[in-house]
Order: sequence, then structure tokens, then C-alpha cells
Amino acid sequence: PHFVTYLQARKRVQSRKTVLSRHPVHLKGDKVLDGVTGLIGNTPLVRINSLSNALGVEILGKAEFLNPGGSVKDRVALRSTFTPFQSMLLTCSVLIVIEDAERQGLLRPHTGSRIFEGTVGSTGISMATIARARGYETTIIMPDDVAEEKVKALQCLGAEVQRVRPASIIDKKQFVNMARQAAVDFGCKGIPDRTKKGQIAYEIPTGTPSVVVTTTSLRVHPTGIAIDSQCEDPMTKPQGFFADQFENRSNFDAHYEGTGPEIWRQTNGKIDAFISGAGTGGTIAGAGQYIKSMNKNVVVALADPEGSGLFNKVKYGVMYDRKEAEGTKRRHQVDTVVEGIGSNRMTNNIDLALPIIDDAFRITDAEAVAMSRYLVQNDGLFLGSSSACNLVACVKLVCRTGWKEGQTIITILYLFKLVMLHHDLRYAIRCDSGNRHYSKFWNDRYLQEANIPIDQTIIGQLLNPS
Ligand code: PMP
Repeated sequence: PHFVTYLQARKRVQSRKTVLSRHPVHLKGDKVLDGVTGLIGNTPLVRINSLSNALGVEILGKAEFLNPGGSVKDRVALRSTFTPFQSMLLTCSVLIVIEDAERQGLLRPHTGSRIFEGTVGSTGISMATIARARGYETTIIMPDDVAEEKVKALQCLGAEVQRVRPASIIDKKQFVNMARQAAVDFGCKGIPDRTKKGQIAYEIPTGTPSVVVTTTSLRVHPTGIAIDSQCEDPMTKPQGFFADQFENRSNFDAHYEGTGPEIWRQTNGKIDAFISGAGTGGTIAGAGQYIKSMNKNVVVALADPEGSGLFNKVKYGVMYDRKEAEGTKRRHQVDTVVEGIGSNRMTNNIDLALPIIDDAFRITDAEAVAMSRYLVQNDGLFLGSSSACNLVACVKLVCRTGWKEGQTIITILYLFKLVMLHHDLRYAIRCDSGNRHYSKFWNDRYLQEANIPIDQTIIGQLLNPS
């Protein structure tokens, strides 16, 4: 009874439209939850007091940090959804990427089954958390320039971690390609090799505007490709599963069926804008598309860090303009201190997001850093870098639209820590030993060496443009 097909779930979401608003949101703590996976989803909205008061517009953040793996990514590893009936019973029915794989015979608990994923960290931590709870092993492959804290967290969770040099997506040594290869080496079959000619996600001819080449194989639901074929011998060999968050449609579903309906219910549909960054694109595509399906007038806007091509893609239809393509050495990578959002390639989930994105904001590293320091000083909110980007975009949207009062903007706080009323950052950092950004985004010396200013007056200027 806990398993429903994708189409059934989608139908339920549709038929729920009128029902959702009649049921109040049920926050964590209302009942005893079923293990660590019961903690996933149904996160509260938190009012960002300093910005809301300064702007006269309600800025509300969805507190995804309350997920047990500490980020929005838990939903993708395990997507949670509410049927009207279950909502009445305060029960969370769980549909999982992992359970999807289990249902298809791609994973079997406590038999040495292994999940492979390429990630900059948060998804890996979510995968490893849930894998532990469900009886699976994990192999996580990540670039070696991400914050050390994430590696430590993964190791504590028992994941096998491999770190590789950052490389372009067309390089076989790129972390997603390496994860795919590791899954293939483990015996998983039916996984497309996207590094082969003709199967590359995109290519940018030197000196010309980019042309996005998306092959047919990329558009196929990867779990669909995998069905019946990912594993060599399901009965005798330990199973292996390549989670493939960038291309996996379950990523979108987690937000279309979880995050989006939750936001709608929590606000009773009173939303003027929804703002999110995009790494895989799952959050903005899924939550944004659900919110749009309920009210097409809601502005869905992208917060995009420096070095990402998505801003240009939304605004001008191409990832790069000629000047940028020529001037950027690492053009297939996102060159920013912000981790988790920004992309220079098309993925299935970004494909799903593009049609519903109305506006985009380019956020500089300095702005993200300034916002994070501003919020810790004024609200006691200790945010990760992608959450800070989203909030800068909220302020920029208010400036652009001229909204004055009464409007509500919802954004995602993917990852943050509460500083528990201590506005002294040094104290907070000592308290928050698990902070995933301390060594880079929250490390003043690192920022100075990278020539990124730490200047809160930037936010004052954004809030009060002269
Ligand atoms: N913030 C952080 C910290 C992340 O790790 C990610 C995922 N890479 C995102 C935001 C973006 O979420 P999505 O992949 O759904 O676009």
C-alpha cells in the first residue's frame, strides 16, 4: 500500500489541489516517526525577519536543513509525499528513489547492494544516511575541491568516498562519469556512456555561442534504462544501482510531489514568487512546476552563481556568449565559491525546469558571502552558500518588481545551521562542528586568498539602492 506508481502519484497530486488547503501543515514532532526516513520532508517555513522587515515583502525560507541528512537532498534520495487521506492521519507515505530501485529489483537490503553516485556532497550525504537506514553500501565520487567537512560526514556514515580532480563533463574523469564507470565496473549494465561521441550532454564549439546537443539517450528516464538490465545477476551477485541525480526523473518527482505541495499547503497558496538555484535542477523544476500548476502567475526565478551558464540559458537561450566562452578556461565547470548550485550543462532535470523559469538573477560570490554574514548578524541564521544566493535573489527580485508590501516570496534554505541566538560568529562556528562550509565559504582567510570581499555593506546597497 505504500507503493504507488509515478502516474498514480501524479494523479493524486492533481486531485489534491482542492484538498490540500483544507488541511493544516503538520510539522515534525506531531507524532512518533518511523526511523530516520520518517524525518524526511514536511519542513517548516521560516520568516527571514531582517529582509522581510526591510523590504515590506514576506521572505519565507523552506527550512530544508531540518531533514536528517541536513539538506533538501534527503527528499531525492527518499521522496516523501502526502495523500489527502494520509495528510488527515498525519502520516507520511514514502516513495523513494531507493525504493523505486528496490521495486525494480535493483537493490536488495542487507545483501551488500551498493548505491553509486557522483555528487558535490549533499546528495551523497543523503544517500549514505538513507542507505545506512535501509541496509545498503554507498560509493560516493566527488571533486577534490569541495569542503572537507562533507567528506568527513560521508566517511562517518560509512560511505566509500573517492575524490577526483575537477574536470569537464566531457572528460571521463569527471566525478559523475567516474561514478557511472564505477557502477558499470561493479556489474551494473544498461547505463549509457555519455562520454562517447554523440552521447555528450553538450559541447561548446570554440569561439562560438554554445549549441546544446542533447541526445535521445539523455532524455530517457535513466531508471527506465536500468529496469531489468542494471545488474548482471540479481539473485547471486550483490546489486548495484547508479542513482544519477542529474538525469533521474525521481529527483524532479521528489519536489513535484513533496516540496511543491508542502509549500502550497503551508502558504494556503498565497505565493507571489518562488526562487531557487539549480544544481541538478530538481528542486526548481519539481517545486516550481507544481506551484505553477496551481497558479501560473507565480513568478519562478532562478538564483545563479558566478561561472554558471544557466543565467544566460534562461535569459538568452545559450549557455555562454562568445566572449565568456573564449575567456573561461574551465568552461565546463562552475567557478565559484558557492557549492551545490550552478551548472554549465543541460541535464534532464534542468530541461524540465527551463520552461517554467520566468526570470533569473546572477549572484556574485561577494553578494553571497555578504548575505550570509548579514543574516548571521541580524537573524542568527547560519546559512550555506546556496541558501545565501537564493536570498540575494529574493532581494533583487523585490528591487526589480518594485513590490512594496503584501507579497510573499518563498525560497529554499537548502542547508543552514541555527546559531541559537548567538550572534557571535566565532562562538557559533565552535558550536557547529558539523558545518559543511566552514573550510571554504565561512573561512575568511580562504575568501581573502580567493580575492572575494567580505563586505556586508553590499546588502545595505541592495536593500536601499540609491
Ligand atoms: N544547495 C546545495 C547545498 C546542493 O548540494 C544542491 C544540489 N547539488 C542544491 C542546492 C541544488 O539543488 P538541485 O540539485 O535540486 O538543483
